[in-house]
Amino acid sequence: MKNTKYIFVTGGVLSSLGKGISSSSIATLLKHSGYQISILKIDPYINVDPGTMSPLEHGEVFVTFDGAETDLDIGHYERFLNKDFSKQNNFTTGQIYLSVIEKERKGKYLGKTIQIVPHIVDEIKNRIKSAGENSDFLVVELGGTVGDMEGMPYLEAMRQMKHELGNDLVISIHVTLIPLIKAAGELKTKPTQHSVQELRRIGISPQIILARCEKPLSKELKKKLALSCDVDDDSVIVAEDAESIYKCPMNFLKEGILTPIARRFKINQLNPKMDEWDMLVKKIISPKNSLNIAFVGKYLNLKESYKSLTEALTHAGANLDTRVNIKWIDSENITSSNINMFGDVDSILIPGGFGERGVNGKIEAIKYARENKIPFLGICLGMQLCIVEFARNVLGILDANSTEFDTKTKNPFIYLIEDFIDQQGKEQIRTHQSPMGGTMRLGEYECKIKPKTILWNAYNYKDTIKERHRHRYEANPKYKNDLQAKGLIISGESKSGLIEAVEIKEHPFFIGVQFHPEFTSRLQNPNPIILEFVKKTLEFQKK
Ligand code: GLN
Repeated sequence: MKNTKYIFVTGGVLSSLGKGISSSSIATLLKHSGYQISILKIDPYINVDPGTMSPLEHGEVFVTFDGAETDLDIGHYERFLNKDFSKQNNFTTGQIYLSVIEKERKGKYLGKTIQIVPHIVDEIKNRIKSAGENSDFLVVELGGTVGDMEGMPYLEAMRQMKHELGNDLVISIHVTLIPLIKAAGELKTKPTQHSVQELRRIGISPQIILARCEKPLSKELKKKLALSCDVDDDSVIVAEDAESIYKCPMNFLKEGILTPIARRFKINQLNPKMDEWDMLVKKIISPKNSLNIAFVGKYLNLKESYKSLTEALTHAGANLDTRVNIKWIDSENITSSNINMFGDVDSILIPGGFGERGVNGKIEAIKYARENKIPFLGICLGMQLCIVEFARNVLGILDANSTEFDTKTKNPFIYLIEDFIDQQGKEQIRTHQSPMGGTMRLGEYECKIKPKTILWNAYNYKDTIKERHRHRYEANPKYKNDLQAKGLIISGESKSGLIEAVEIKEHPFFIGVQFHPEFTSRLQNPNPIILEFVKKTLEFQKK
């Protein structure tokens, strides 16, 4: 058993300070210094997982290989650390209470009164410790802002862990905002001082202050902050707004964040190897090529809903020395008469989605890409609609539909499998009335690839791959022959014969995939089919 070192990251003043990126950046520097790293996100809301939350409220739901629906920060962790995380790397207040109450019902605490301290806090500490097992460092990011009522039990758990494990194994980093008062041109430290005071009231004294600023902080201000927040002079680290999130680890390194970390943990000086990373970041910031992709979605008011996919495009671009510009197109605005809005793009991308709104516009976009031989990638709902479009416009079955949009359609090309065997081999019975939480096809599944297809080329001629899923509906295998007879290629199939990928003969690049390739894309290891899509878009553009 390793003596895991814990880095707790809290946030002050307000939310959206980039705690997730900060935590990922610190973890990246430690990983590149040769350590075994794990990372944990704690979400203080009562939902058991974010699976049933609107993407407009919460941003994207990220899916881990083992089928957990998690906060989008887990996606950042995987993209930065080039590593799969699991169910263990994210938990919510809902999960904590659920397991304590289940234990109480089973009589595990017989005779006791169940309380926040010790029972809830103990459950939190146990989960933190098990997420850190076998790692040199565990970075723990606490969602929300210090002072929120929901966060209290977690801060208490952190305080207790420091008490139990001691100063050499636990440090605390506080991410905060230093606002710039434009009229006076002055940076203000008071909100940070108050936030640290609030932390201290709870019994936590941070060792490092990570200050988000719009402009550099002078030496004097850093000194003032160090004095008022009671941290060492070298422990006020400025996180200036960066041109790319992937530049943050380099920025933190330059600011010297590893010096106080090494000193606090009493370890040797840390020297991360960041050459390859730095080169990719340079290609993100000033690439040779650029191209334009139409992104046909419906949650366009909150682009965070498509975080993994937009990041995956950045990764593919970085690896191809190309800037991928996104033209956001609201699927609700597309009709057959304004389809020329696609005239100035190099390719078309349709991401996953739920519900009927905007579906017809997406079908128009697919038809346009198919007929005009524009490079096309459809993901999840994007693939399902490729099949519906093909059925309607090529097979001439005008009422072809998904039962998600028309439960009574006579031609359910996309349907609900009533008896589904999930990742763990458990049987799930599904109907339109099934509970909504955690009942989709979730996590990694095997996909068999047909040789000599786009998919096969993209995945380097592998005959099976694994990608992650998050959907309730499936393409109906009963129509396979009809679709194939008219030129639809089924290039990917699940073990049990479900359709996982479709392509179109006589088209330079047209593919729909049932899985979400964006969940496995990393800066240093871009997803193969997304990489191929961007590569083909570039080739097509040059013709
Ligand atoms: N709504 C579709 C389904 O549930 C597609 C989901 C998705 O695109 N992630 O099957």
